[in-house]
Amino acid sequence: MKRLTIAIDGPAGAGKSTVARIVAQRLAYTYIDSGAMYRAVTWAVSRQAIAVTDREAVIKAARSLNLALTYRDGKTQVLVDGEDVSESIRTPEISRQVSEVAKIGGVREAMVRLQRQLASFGGVVMDGRDIGTHVLPDADIKIFLTASIKERARRRWQELSDKGYTVSLEDLTKDISCRDRVDCERDIAPLIQAADAVLIDTTALTIHQAVEQILRLCEERTSGLQNPS
Ligand code: C5P
Repeated sequence: MKRLTIAIDGPAGAGKSTVARIVAQRLAYTYIDSGAMYRAVTWAVSRQAIAVTDREAVIKAARSLNLALTYRDGKTQVLVDGEDVSESIRTPEISRQVSEVAKIGGVREAMVRLQRQLASFGGVVMDGRDIGTHVLPDADIKIFLTASIKERARRRWQELSDKGYTVSLEDLTKDISCRDRVDCERDIAPLIQAADAVLIDTTALTIHQAVEQILRLCEERTSGLQNPS
């Protein structure tokens, strides 16, 4: 059976990574979390005390980043120079800075090159903001996963609370809205639904329901490829 390339885009907190990971597991595909890559650059920039506004230095850090993504116990493990930064890239601090780093053209070029290399063998589920529109425009399945801002903020609040962070729902809603705005309004590869993407609104859906919808689309696609009319 043909191994598909599946692109899942959408705003922060829509459930992309959870859904993408489960879809990849069910199909025995590789899951690629492109957001983790931009977060890793942001982490490296902060570690090297580079100001986000120093574009040249940020691009240099992105180009020289020694990044590896692996999977352990169903979780993405992100290594920078062999150091496990999987948790450190998900702090509220990194979340607040990442969109400023991700809008720099040279950073995106370096990450997109890596993302395309990782996807080149097929059998991948990649999630992000510009996967269906820019990184993998020929993806077999494109999904735009979204949810109301209220629900997305609630989910992120729950996630951070479970990890022991104290954040107010109000501040988190502001942070997410601000990140959405930067991601949607940037000049290069902004967050936008691809013309051929299927919209799935997860506000009132369970993870399981969203996963099943995507798996159904994959089945339809593979049976269409086997029996072309
Ligand atoms: O998916 P996640 O929330 O971890 O992504 C963090 C940030 O990385 C996004 O808010 C966005 O600024 C950036 N990003 C991007 N393009 C992608 C994936 C993430 O610009 N394909």
